[in-house]
Amino acid sequence: MQSDLIILGAGQAGMSAARSALKRGLKVTLIDVQMPAPGGKFDLQAGLAKSMVQMAGTELWASSNAALEKNPLVDEILTHQYLEFVEGWGRVVKSNAVEVGRKIYSARRLIIATGSEAILSSGSIISDLPHFTEDFLPPITDQLQGVVVVGGDEYACLVAQLFGTMGIATELVVPGQSLLEDLESEVSEILERSFAELGVGVYLGKDLSSAAKDPTTGDLINVQLSDSTVLKASAIVATGTRRGKTHGLGLEAIGCATDERGFVKVSNRLQSSRSGIFCAGDVTGKLLGPSSAREMGRIAVSQAFDRSPVTRFDPMLITRVIPLTPPIATLGVTERDALRKSVRIAKVAFAELAASSTGTQTAGFVKLLSAPRPLMRGIGGGKLIGATIVGPSAGEMISELALAMRRNLPVGAIVENVRPTSNYNFAVELAARQLLENKKPSLNALAF
Ligand SMILES: Cc1cc2nc3c(=O)[nH]c(=O)nc-3n(C[C@H](O)[C@H](O)[C@H](O)COP(=O)(O)OP(=O)(O)OC[C@H]3O[C@@H](n4cnc5c(N)ncnc54)[C@H](O)[C@@H]3O)c2cc1C
Repeated sequence: MQSDLIILGAGQAGMSAARSALKRGLKVTLIDVQMPAPGGKFDLQAGLAKSMVQMAGTELWASSNAALEKNPLVDEILTHQYLEFVEGWGRVVKSNAVEVGRKIYSARRLIIATGSEAILSSGSIISDLPHFTEDFLPPITDQLQGVVVVGGDEYACLVAQLFGTMGIATELVVPGQSLLEDLESEVSEILERSFAELGVGVYLGKDLSSAAKDPTTGDLINVQLSDSTVLKASAIVATGTRRGKTHGLGLEAIGCATDERGFVKVSNRLQSSRSGIFCAGDVTGKLLGPSSAREMGRIAVSQAFDRSPVTRFDPMLITRVIPLTPPIATLGVTERDALRKSVRIAKVAFAELAASSTGTQTAGFVKLLSAPRPLMRGIGGGKLIGATIVGPSAGEMISELALAMRRNLPVGAIVENVRPTSNYNFAVELAARQLLENKKPSLNALAF
């Protein structure tokens, strides 16, 4: 089969690119070291959840991903008559050719979608000790006496919460002043409470100052923090430093530039410095995560074949869903980013609603930000520029807001939208109404 497109990497970005290309009637050669599992392993939210389920022998994470696991789209792609799947490690030899084993595959265009991998930050004091990252977690055995997780991003929180949930003594050492520092500040407060309930110690604004094997026990590591606190653990998991998986791909030899962390340098149209090569997903270093990888896969195909002047990757439109307890979903800017005076901010805590209807308390909130639209200004509440939902079904609830933002709809459209009445959903409507009316409406004035 003479291909139109080679896609190197069949993860989230590669599969999305393949689907987009096949829908256009293009012939695709998809290369990966491993054949995607029938049924769709690529829609499981990847490594962490899966490896933890395997390690722990629990259904804890599987249940939250079960709906995604049976994705018919993956089978549809892999069995498509215009798709050739090549199993093996690929190396780019020309802007339109990839070598796998001894065979060279060529096409009109190439999309690189090889993902990213965890590394230890340079000079890390744990490099001489047995250490783990979010990609390779310590196996759960009787010997695992405790875990120290270092980092404050979503990987750190996910790893700490999961070990904590399994009853393993877990401490989370956070170099920054809060958890998930790039999100709304209230998110950290809620997570800190959740960790406290779980018995996971959280040490904000601390770093490791030393780590060494305990001379008395041999198995344990003494971990000293910058404030002299000493923690004992049998494993340290360092999270949050990743690099593009481009080592050995041969990109330098063909003039395709990467940065110091191995991420391929691309424009917002996902064009690399080498004509004919586009990139998608984590390997671009633009915005790591499955949603952005899928969006980039689609855009890379569009750019590779249409060169549309309007299609470009906009990280502000990407929904981030972090499957913690409580779940977190975000989109666009945060209150901290929104420095413009004309930005309106609305927040509804679930506890407010729950107390008024059922008397129960639920941690979490919906926060929305809007800004004036060109010409229409603040009419209709302006346009949505940011959303954060923390609480049950956050990932589902944010979809409506993502569509509104992508389509530039006025906030009034969110208010008008008829949605199933639950306290959680109602909070979205109420927050949007605050933006529309530019004040906080009373709960009694609204029909449940
Ligand atoms: C441990 C872990 C847990 C995560 N959990 C979550 C989560 O719960 N929620 C969330 O939102 N995000 C999560 N993520 C992030 C998410 O999985 C990634 O951001 C997403 O998978 C990126 O998609 P991608 O297509 O760019 O890369 P990947 O999905 O990693 O796909 C890259 C593919 O390229 C292949 N490949 C690489 N090099 C070559 C080569 N030379 N030749 C052939 N094939 C090659 C690999 O085999 C792989 O299949 C997690 C990430 C990790 C590491």
